[in-house]
Amino acid sequence: MKKIGIFGGTFDPIHHGHLILARDALEMLDLETVIFIPAAASPHKLDQQLTAPDVRLEMLRAAIESEPGFGLDPMELRRTSPSYAVDTIEALRRREPDAELFHLIGEDNVDRLGTWHRFAELSEMVQFVVLARSKVKTEYPYRTIRRHLDISATNIRNRVAMGHSIRYLVPPPVENIIRDRQLYREPQK
Ligand code: ATP
Repeated sequence: MKKIGIFGGTFDPIHHGHLILARDALEMLDLETVIFIPAAASPHKLDQQLTAPDVRLEMLRAAIESEPGFGLDPMELRRTSPSYAVDTIEALRRREPDAELFHLIGEDNVDRLGTWHRFAELSEMVQFVVLARSKVKTEYPYRTIRRHLDISATNIRNRVAMGHSIRYLVPPPVENIIRDRQLYREPQK
């Protein structure tokens, strides 16, 4: 059976943390592909000012273009926000009725998972896979990928605003887009 990984997030910007963990998922779960699905606005981050969808998409495209195991689906950007995971998964299910779906989620989402829109239906349609972030080894009722990469988009945005280098934190083409489009120059509120 075809196995597909789904990786949602704001990806503002996509960074090597995301990419390394997606590669791990590909190998550990024997997935055919990991599809990156950028969110229009996260239902959990409604107070955050996001970079324009087209620009986040441009950075994602640039970051994954040399990796045949990765794909990109902008469906959530075309929907009215906030976008819910369950709607996305239903759309993927219709497209791939026989595939096994693995939903990659950051550890910071696990506690609130039960409050996600139509969680019961969502959990029938996917297997959740947790991307561990903290050093504390918490046990989850889900498969977990432990790599402990201390890289976050927040830190990258802050570094740019302070004039610090983001080299090695994001792929070079993403670094170029951030520089050329003068993203993240303003300190975060
Ligand atoms: P921000 O700092 O803006 O909150 P982020 O770096 O967490 O962003 P998202 O776009 O929110 O990036 O990431 C998508 C998903 O990947 C989220 O579920 C997030 O928890 C997870 N994630 C991002 N970076 C890591 C990391 N270094 N280790 C584990 N999970 C991560």
